[in-house]
Amino acid sequence: MFDALADRLESAWKKLRGQDKISQSNIQDALREVRRALLEADVNLQVVKEFISEIEAKAQGAEVIAGVRPDQQFIKIVYDELVQVMGETNVPLAQAENKPTVVLMAGLQGTGKTTATAKLALHLRKLDRSCLMVATDVYRPAAIDQLVTLGKQIEVPVFEMGSDADPVEIARQGVERGKAEGVDTVIIDTAGRLQIDADMMAELIRIKQTVEPDETLLVVDAMTGQEAANLTRTFHEQVGITGAILTKLDGDSRGGAALSVRRISGAPIKFVGVGEKVEALQPFYPDRMASRILG
Ligand code: GDP
Repeated sequence: MFDALADRLESAWKKLRGQDKISQSNIQDALREVRRALLEADVNLQVVKEFISEIEAKAQGAEVIAGVRPDQQFIKIVYDELVQVMGETNVPLAQAENKPTVVLMAGLQGTGKTTATAKLALHLRKLDRSCLMVATDVYRPAAIDQLVTLGKQIEVPVFEMGSDADPVEIARQGVERGKAEGVDTVIIDTAGRLQIDADMMAELIRIKQTVEPDETLLVVDAMTGQEAANLTRTFHEQVGITGAILTKLDGDSRGGAALSVRRISGAPIKFVGVGEKVEALQPFYPDRMASRILG
């Protein structure tokens, strides 16, 4: 396991051989290799710095266990810390005490927000939880059509009011409809822009204040690498998120965005998108992601 990191540590571990303690001086080369591995996995620079100093503090003074190669011991410390920072276990979607649970989807255009809305609805449907999807992206009529088409495909109803209505009003009425029909979960797809934009944020905040969602999920494209950190910071500071969905993990990204998102927002990643198909959604598991990040 972690062959790539183990290879990198090959020369670093020679310094650890024969030592009975991992110390500040004999660990520096190893830390440098971990730093490089995390940056290559596209973890945000600031997040890497903080993480490395935590590892340093953890590893220092650790007794070298007899019969265990110190580099393997060190890798275990890094891996455990990574799993811990990403939350240890999978955190399921919140469920409101009184139906419906309201989930607000947020994120930039093109990240896979609309697809994730349908993926989530299908996932819940398979758990026998009924859903209603709400289309509030009035700026791109194609986005409404896309959700309607996906809804037909997965047999989940879509609430929409065309492209002339106010998105806040659509969201409000969508939740009302969900309540009236006794559905378990209402998922609100919102408009995204190519870049963070004040109007988009203001609208999202108004929708959030109006529908008081149980979950506000930020949809983050794993392929955006370092940018994922800025995106998370802005959305979390301005709107407040309770979780994230990391999409496009079927690509060649090493998934470092997962660490950045969790670290910056404190909110758990709940699902990962692993393909364009509507079935391509999986629960997020910190241990699997730690393995992927370490390569
Ligand atoms: P939105 O603008 O954020 O609503 O994004 P869309 O849901 O329309 O998705 C944008 C593009 O990304 C589409 O071509 C989707 O098929 C694709 N996409 C979404 N999620 C994934 C994923 O997990 N993996 C891959 N490979 N493509 C995805």
